[in-house]
Amino acid sequence: MNTRDELGRALHDLRISVTDRCNFRCTYCMPRELFGADHAFLPRASLLSFDEIARLTRLFAGLGVRKLRLTGGEPLVRRDLGQLVAMLAPTHGIEDISLTTNGSLLSREKAERLRKAGLKRITISLDALDDATFKAMNGVGFPVAKVLAAIDHAAAAGLAPVKVNMVVRRGANDQAIEAMAEHFRGTGQILRFIEFMDVGTTNGWRLDEVVTAKEILARIDARWPIEQAPPNYPGEVAVRWRYRDGGGEIGVIASVTRPFCGGCTRARLSAEGRLYTCLFAATGADLRGMLRGGASDEAITGKLAAVWHVRRDRYSELRTAATAAGRKKIEMSYIGG
Ligand code: SF4
Repeated sequence: MNTRDELGRALHDLRISVTDRCNFRCTYCMPRELFGADHAFLPRASLLSFDEIARLTRLFAGLGVRKLRLTGGEPLVRRDLGQLVAMLAPTHGIEDISLTTNGSLLSREKAERLRKAGLKRITISLDALDDATFKAMNGVGFPVAKVLAAIDHAAAAGLAPVKVNMVVRRGANDQAIEAMAEHFRGTGQILRFIEFMDVGTTNGWRLDEVVTAKEILARIDARWPIEQAPPNYPGEVAVRWRYRDGGGEIGVIASVTRPFCGGCTRARLSAEGRLYTCLFAATGADLRGMLRGGASDEAITGKLAAVWHVRRDRYSELRTAATAAGRKKIEMSYIGG
């Protein structure tokens, strides 16, 4: 089954947010000033159960979804995530399950359990190597060493190459670009540099705080000559670059200066069961009501297909200072990137 949107893009990837909660307060996603102790997270009863997520996944797979990514908030704050992976892995049509995490709760045992349950790939966020910068960016004083340990746990558990995501924000951590590259060169892990994005409406995004892909690549190339590598698959978000001396590869995710909406095959499911067709969407279609209202598989499948068929999203290609500043958008911490 091949379900296409109005721009001919197939429905192929489903990003599943399993919680809007997180134990970090990253400045570019969930700034502490706006997500304080009194922030109202989604009530537990409003979250989709693992059975509901598994049912939706089966129906999405029937429409062509082949890849799943589990996100949050911080997905590992949701208990027994390994159980969910074990429920999703045997779904007919699903070929790949990955996880995006801040690594703070990833022990060696948990990494093993997730891999045994069927997790294939993992992405761990790390924005700097020095504690002062990283603690300032994660907003909770979490140390670098523990995230580096989580990366080692994931690799040792068989989830290598681990992808390491660094969001680069001018004036916050751009000084750390070369140090991060040097640290991960030759390790087999893949460091990806992410342009600071105007996700949601709370991170105070400004264009002059964006360190462009062009600048990042030029700085890396000046130290360690690089060459572009072919994509692993169509629609891959990160553009791959490899060190000419065999030191491995890096990636760049340039949503601001090199948008990739043309190949965007990603749907997003929020933890409370709303379907979003773009990271920068303002509204989503409610599926939980159908799930809990006794709707049939046919009816829900019809709804999923109908939402995708009329999809025209290409926010990053149309982004202007006005859209970045004024437009209502869902929060990154709610939909999970
Ligand atoms: S901006 Fe929206 S349509 Fe474009 S790549 Fe991102 S999620 Fe896809």
